[in-house]
Amino acid sequence: MLETRNLRSGYGRINVLWDVSLSFPQGQLTTIVGQNGAGKTTLLRALMGLLPHEGEIRLDGQRLSGKTWNLTERGLVMVPEGRLVFRDMTVEENLVLGAYPKRCRADSRTNMERIYGLFPRLKERRGQLAGSLSGGEAQMLAMGRGMMSSPKILLIDEPSLGLAPVIVQEVFGIIRQLKADGTTIVLVEQNTHMALGVADHVHLMRSGQVIMSRPASEVDLDELHDLYLARE
Ligand code: ATP
Repeated sequence: MLETRNLRSGYGRINVLWDVSLSFPQGQLTTIVGQNGAGKTTLLRALMGLLPHEGEIRLDGQRLSGKTWNLTERGLVMVPEGRLVFRDMTVEENLVLGAYPKRCRADSRTNMERIYGLFPRLKERRGQLAGSLSGGEAQMLAMGRGMMSSPKILLIDEPSLGLAPVIVQEVFGIIRQLKADGTTIVLVEQNTHMALGVADHVHLMRSGQVIMSRPASEVDLDELHDLYLARE
């Protein structure tokens, strides 16, 4: 299980996260919602070891710090926004790059076939440059690239950003499928309606703090929106 205790992190002298203590239970989907600038992406970056931090980040009980932070080898993978694919490389080359951790190289072919099964559109466009994909296709590619490394925990950042509603449905269908396969998922999402539809747990962030944590079954969308929009 992935967890944080009193996590503080940010950029240089700017602190963004203030004492964030969260657990991300195995095999479950936890969603982090909140307004622009609440610190959601910063939380994902800190979990990936991309930012300096104070407090604790633990994976299966072990505290993560410099040397133990070989996370991709340990199955922790971040799927950034779809715009962050390698634009000058083909769809297939982007996917192959996702399989760089040693532990998943042997499964690379099987994983690629599985991803092409889930995303037939990527298969049709396997030789196309990623820079010429539509927004939805690029998002699918970003997810596919993350899945190439047989992740145990996937951190997904705003998968619905800029996508047409029908594509959002498609992307969330894949997220459901990944969850059904037993992947632990941390989903940062502004589309609260879609996020609540797949989540087991919901955390609302504001100004770098977690201001509400509940099982998704106990969250009322209207109440969440009131809290979401309330001023500090
Ligand atoms: P959004 O939904 O808009 O992506 P978010 O909740 O993911 O918002 P973050 O991207 O984590 O928010 O940003 C939190 C705060 O950190 C913001 O005030 C932002 O300006 C600041 N921030 C983000 N990236 C950097 C950076 N590279 N350098 C300095 N400050 C940053």
